[in-house]
Amino acid sequence: MEAGRRSSTKPVQSLKPTKTVSVDEDLTKASDALPLPLHLSNAVFFTLFFSAVYFLLSHWREKIRTSTPLSVVTFSEIIAILAFVASFIYLLGFFGIDFVQSLILRPQTEVWNSEDDDELADVLLRKEDARKVPCGQALDCSLPPLPPPAPIVTVQKVLDENPVTVLTEEDEELIKSVVAGTTPSYSLESKLGDCKRGAAIRREALQRLTGKSLEGLPLDGFDYESILGQCCEMPVGYVQIPVGIAGPLLINGREYSVPMATTEGCLVASTNRGCKAIHLSGGATSTLLRDGMTRAPVVRFGTAKRAADLKLYLEDPDNFDTLAVVFNRSSRFGRLQGIKCAIAGKNLYLRFTCTTGDAMGMNMVSKGVQNVLDFLQTDFPDMDVMGISGNFCSDKKPAAVNWIEGRGKSVVCEAIIKGDVVRKVLKTTVESLVELNMLKNLTGSAMAGALGGFNAHASNIVTAVYIATGQDPAQNVESSHCITMMEAVNDGKDLHISVTMPSIEVGTVGGGTQLASQSACLNLLGVKVASKESAGANSRMLAAVVAGAVLAGELSLMSALAAGQLVKSHMKYNRSNKDVSKASS
Ligand code: ADP
Repeated sequence: MEAGRRSSTKPVQSLKPTKTVSVDEDLTKASDALPLPLHLSNAVFFTLFFSAVYFLLSHWREKIRTSTPLSVVTFSEIIAILAFVASFIYLLGFFGIDFVQSLILRPQTEVWNSEDDDELADVLLRKEDARKVPCGQALDCSLPPLPPPAPIVTVQKVLDENPVTVLTEEDEELIKSVVAGTTPSYSLESKLGDCKRGAAIRREALQRLTGKSLEGLPLDGFDYESILGQCCEMPVGYVQIPVGIAGPLLINGREYSVPMATTEGCLVASTNRGCKAIHLSGGATSTLLRDGMTRAPVVRFGTAKRAADLKLYLEDPDNFDTLAVVFNRSSRFGRLQGIKCAIAGKNLYLRFTCTTGDAMGMNMVSKGVQNVLDFLQTDFPDMDVMGISGNFCSDKKPAAVNWIEGRGKSVVCEAIIKGDVVRKVLKTTVESLVELNMLKNLTGSAMAGALGGFNAHASNIVTAVYIATGQDPAQNVESSHCITMMEAVNDGKDLHISVTMPSIEVGTVGGGTQLASQSACLNLLGVKVASKESAGANSRMLAAVVAGAVLAGELSLMSALAAGQLVKSHMKYNRSNKDVSKASS
């Protein structure tokens, strides 16, 4: 059927896979060398083999019975021995062919599974990542001992065995039916039971309906089953975003190679420079301040008094245990931490906060909230649930509540950057950085009426890491809330820099984290899936990495700005005859 489909159809798209080779298609098999078709040769030689064996055994038995020496062989026995040897060699060759084929095919079929290759890649990556400037060269920075590298986890195979999708005549009928509106596009996956074919048909129908080509948007090379019912509906392809690596980023004594998916030139390079400055200064320290995802439904009463009654009930410490038992039924990992209520007239906003293990936790917290709302209906039958989310949560919108109360992981990350490193790596001075930070990130943002935006470009790093690791990129809004502080320390010689980020929303299970590419990036960081030691440890570590990468990004961009500002100032005040490079250092 597969072969028929191929011959009667046209490729959906011209994009050719570069490295993947279909096992069936392009490889010469060792069995091709046989004069007869394989099954006929097998039949002939099997018959010959067993006939010869039978003939020889029966003759030898006869000889033993009549006491004739076995060494006396007749002409027919010689023929039988020759037939036995010939067929034996063939059969050995037959099994040998499979063996040879397996040798030939192995590089393609096991390319994703070869532990040796992975090990080699890992070694190369580590070599690439190793800081070129040896620590201690002109700089006094002793690093804490690092833990042994995490075991290499085999990367999931993602490429299809049949990389180029082709459409059959049957598919053509479906395309026409989608174009005519008789088959809903959304129903293709359930109708066909084949997600990739569904995507191919939808894509072709879309091109015909719109008259616009989707050439350039790849279809093949993606596992459409993995997104079904979880990540994306009605797929027609996937967007490719390059992933660059910044690092190693040294946080809390551990090195991380930080994957960043971005199309913004210089972003990875700049973050990498920040990582280098941090590494040469002995690393950064990250501290988790709080860990709790929030959801805030809005409920309405007939009077403000009734809304206030519920507020008092929910915030009464005596009722917490009962509410927690009800809430916690939703998941093994969701544990109620608190409820904070806000009233607007007759309307009450109930902001639930709970731990969510290694999940980012939006689904988990929503389920727990629903349990509590159902429970409250008994004592507050006049309560109208207007919406499970009333925006006091607050998800994917700039909101002071997240900035002040936190959402997800609240993290502060700091480092002391040595004066030498500031000059040699960042090409600026401690004094310039401190001054610029005060003017730009603090005063400038205050002038702009910023909400959580007291930083240079936290969102750049947050978003790139989020996309690479399968987080919800829309949550960059509150996850990028960050105040960057800089201060001269050690008699003004060194720079203390910190980023305080109250609402980093990350998870290592659920959502896009389970997709092959994103999962590989989490694996690189050593935080793939749920932590086996303690629930939530992986997602907390990921939050620390996000904050550390932001610290690196802030350091580097602020330095570039500080250095640039100096140059401009010198030009403006007509002092360009001075040695600018000296001035900036
Ligand atoms: P989210 O709440 O971030 O949208 P989901 O609820 O979709 O995430 O995914 C979390 C799922 O993963 C839940 O079903 C949960 O039971 C399961 N899970 C397994 N291990 C863990 C863990 N260590 N922490 C959190 N969830 C886990």
